[in-house]
Amino acid sequence: MYRPLFARIDTAALQHNLRQVRALAPASKVLAVLKADAYGHGVQTVASALQEADALGVLELEQALALRAAGERRPIVLMEGYFTADELPLLAEHQLTPVIHSTQQLAWLQQAWLPLRLDVWVKLNSGMNRLGFPPGPYREVVQQLSRWPQVGRVTLMSHFATADETDGVAAQLVTFLMETEGMQLPVSLANSAAILAHPDTHADWVRPGIMLYGARSGAASAASQGLRPVMSLLSRLIAVQHVEPGGSIGYGATVVAEYPMRIGVVACGYADGYPRHAPTGTPVLVGGRRCQLVGRVSMDMLTVDLSGCPDADVGTEVELWGTQLPVDEVAVAAGTLGYELLTAVSARVPRCPV
Ligand SMILES: *Cc1c(COP(=O)(O)O)cnc(C)c1O
Repeated sequence: MYRPLFARIDTAALQHNLRQVRALAPASKVLAVLKADAYGHGVQTVASALQEADALGVLELEQALALRAAGERRPIVLMEGYFTADELPLLAEHQLTPVIHSTQQLAWLQQAWLPLRLDVWVKLNSGMNRLGFPPGPYREVVQQLSRWPQVGRVTLMSHFATADETDGVAAQLVTFLMETEGMQLPVSLANSAAILAHPDTHADWVRPGIMLYGARSGAASAASQGLRPVMSLLSRLIAVQHVEPGGSIGYGATVVAEYPMRIGVVACGYADGYPRHAPTGTPVLVGGRRCQLVGRVSMDMLTVDLSGCPDADVGTEVELWGTQLPVDEVAVAAGTLGYELLTAVSARVPRCPV
């Protein structure tokens, strides 16, 4: 690795954040959500760091099979289930647990001959209107599935649209409780926002994603929730320019110097996943000091104003986000979410677990 850009993955922080989940939901089992390559952190790294999690959640069958091939024995939930009937024998063979949310998936399962029973999670659309069976049909689907010889354990699930907003979860929770009344089956409802704000949703299984990675889901900062950032996106200055008044910086010449400026060039651009829309003023940490991004982000580089850090020079370490600069702060400046920044870090950026 010669280019100085990399993502440091703090596995102790991951473990700390999982303990925070346990402290908040002591009676629940934990399904660690590892979709989108563990929110950009690397699915194998995170799965092995989180040995204390009870189950793992991923999206792609390939990723689930890779985890099994690496010796993973815990339940693995496929969070969108299967996309074709062909996948079902593989799911059974490798004991993967699909979410079932559509009549199409149900029909494929009914017609499948399987070598082993499949555990399934059955999703109720309680109001988000993304995935799941509507109330009414849901009850029948659960009853059917519980009788089929292809099916092992059935877990009931739903997902909240506004767990991190003032609307909260009340309406969806009532819908879920009414629809599942009398069913003696395990239940999973809570994402990070609900784990943090709605203890009445914790039930048998919680499903933390973003909080495991130490970024925030609601209004309060992750640090104020006792969470530690897991990814630090680190690089170095690879050039320093002196720009005289009237000189411009970068593509589009969007910034023109009004006074003599020292400009640092950082090896990190939008092809690495740094948001191209981050405006001038977005915070960047250079040599441990807060500086500001200036001018447009390019494909492989971005530029920072070094006026406030005379000691910074070629080779000085830069933190784009991480332990000293919360990813959420960069996200706010760029008009997006920590979720998007973390999952967008591109494949060419090496992940370095520590
Ligand atoms: C992504 C996802 C989660 C995790 O959400 P966070 O907000 O990251 O905690 C939980 N459940 C389902 C169904 C999801 O798709």
